[in-house]
Amino acid sequence: MKPTGIVRDPVYLMHDMGVYHPESPERLAAIYRMIDEERSSLNLMEIAPRDAEHEELAGVHDPRYVDQIAGTAGREETFLDPDTTACAHSWSAAVRAVGGLFSLVDAVIEGRIRNGFALVRPPGHHAERRRAMGFCIFNNVALAANYARVKHGLERVAIVDWDLHHGNGTQNTFYEDPTVLFISTHQYPHYPGSGGVREAGYGVGQGYTVNIPLPAGCGDSEYLAAFHAAVAPILEAFGPQLILVSAGFDAHRSDPLGGMNLTEDGYEQMLQILMHMAAELCSDRLVLTLEGGYHLGALVDSAQRVLSGLGSYDPGIAAVPFPPPRDNLPSTFRSRLKDVLAMQSRFWPGLEEL
Ligand SMILES: [Zn+2]
Repeated sequence: MKPTGIVRDPVYLMHDMGVYHPESPERLAAIYRMIDEERSSLNLMEIAPRDAEHEELAGVHDPRYVDQIAGTAGREETFLDPDTTACAHSWSAAVRAVGGLFSLVDAVIEGRIRNGFALVRPPGHHAERRRAMGFCIFNNVALAANYARVKHGLERVAIVDWDLHHGNGTQNTFYEDPTVLFISTHQYPHYPGSGGVREAGYGVGQGYTVNIPLPAGCGDSEYLAAFHAAVAPILEAFGPQLILVSAGFDAHRSDPLGGMNLTEDGYEQMLQILMHMAAELCSDRLVLTLEGGYHLGALVDSAQRVLSGLGSYDPGIAAVPFPPPRDNLPSTFRSRLKDVLAMQSRFWPGLEEL
């Protein structure tokens, strides 16, 4: 079987926002150590990351913003947002984080790898067209979706964002665009405040933004129920040629920034559902990129389960795997999911009631 591609690079560890910042280099260093230890049991191929070019970054970001970030190179500290700073190496890390994802998209589409996981920093899904936000500098996943369209001519790309937080930057990039489907599960209300049920795209983009705002306390059963009721059937109806995942691990029950209850099992099962959809819809083309996740042990364990899952999906499975038990789901969650299905069934007929 073709290997899973991974991207890693020492420059991703050089972006540093200070000793007390939760988005620390140690997050990736711990994942890299795990990979070195587990190497023999994982079917991995390292894909060399390149640097994204200015023109490519300008596909999603304002060119003046790209220049502004380039100007931070070599400066000790530049404040970009209340939560986000650049150090002397942040520009180098940020352009290679984006380029690493480009390299994985190339390798998946050219058939050198079955799927991939970009183990990069800084994360990206909060980054907006003209500004850094929420630990993010460039919107890695949005740039990758745009790259797949421009470079490889894809007409339909799906982005699934299972990070704890809403991917506001990704949503805004494609809000009026029917060629990129954005589906997000997130704790709500919570940072950054966006991601309500009614935010569903605009103009020709209507229906191509799918927000699944979840009440605090949701765990594996609730996430799997949302994946079965909304994520999988909408992906199927859209028919993507590539599925990208904003893979944050901050909805883990141990995470200090979130109020969710996912376990490693839940992440592995959500991944298996997406692998199933990728097998059915787009010849296994599935590329993940790391977003949040701030409890080191939970982050490493979840990433390990996802990396081993990427190499182990059984293509013989006929139905979407891991149907959750439906009777014991809490009423706050059920009513929220009901609202999502009511809203989205305007655009995606055939969505079933929970
Ligand atoms: Zn997050």
